[in-house]
Amino acid sequence: MDCSKITTTYPDTVYFPGSPEYAASQNSYFAAFENELSPACIVQPTTAAEVAQVIKTVKDLSPQLDTKQIAVRSGGHTAWAGSANIAGNGLTIDLSLMESVTLDSTDNVVSIGPGSKWAKVYETLATKGLAVVGGRVGKVGVGGLTLGGILELFLYYEHYTNLNVRGSFILLCGNWFRLRQCH
Ligand SMILES: Cc1cc2nc3c(=O)[nH]c(=O)nc-3n(C[C@H](O)[C@H](O)[C@H](O)COP(=O)(O)OP(=O)(O)OC[C@H]3O[C@@H](n4cnc5c(N)ncnc54)[C@H](O)[C@@H]3O)c2cc1C
Repeated sequence: MDCSKITTTYPDTVYFPGSPEYAASQNSYFAAFENELSPACIVQPTTAAEVAQVIKTVKDLSPQLDTKQIAVRSGGHTAWAGSANIAGNGLTIDLSLMESVTLDSTDNVVSIGPGSKWAKVYETLATKGLAVVGGRVGKVGVGGLTLGGILELFLYYEHYTNLNVRGSFILLCGNWFRLRQCH
């Protein structure tokens, strides 16, 4: 993967081996198996639009986009190699800077960035006397647990985290990409 083209578009979000940002991201996974993988570069977008732009740039470089060359990382707590990091010529999209937690005006719905960790979500909501169905360990990511977690706080009262999701921004990558809000 030629990460230099992404650097042209977003010079402050692409990190290469040897930089402190690359090392910090690479070494921050829960499992050593993941820490040991070294992608060609790590991208740390701060908005959904930037994620989309990175995918677009990668696709422009190679129209036959091989998604096996791209890893996506939220909280980095999956315990096997290659789940949220990648080796060799691949690119890791590290969402950890997308960690916003925002309540709507009626305080009934919270918008959570895909790189957030549950501790920050709980701390933010607790200031309002609120809570949400999520992971039992604060360092686990909202992204991965929402997609695949099954053991949540309040599970027996409010069901799984993903059943409490009101809507998501979905990035689809076929001939092109779309960004869509559900519900
Ligand atoms: C110490 C520990 C405690 C745990 N506690 C709980 C618990 O209490 N309850 C429970 O149900 N589970 C728990 N788990 C399991 C945990 O929910 C899963 O490992 C989960 O996948 C971790 O999510 P993450 O975002 O931290 O991990 P990541 O490894 O960053 O992501 C997990 C997977 O989801 C993908 N992914 C993440 N975000 C996105 C996104 N926005 N778009 C597309 N793909 C994405 C990644 O590519 C990866 O394949 C725990 C795991 C550990 C290691």
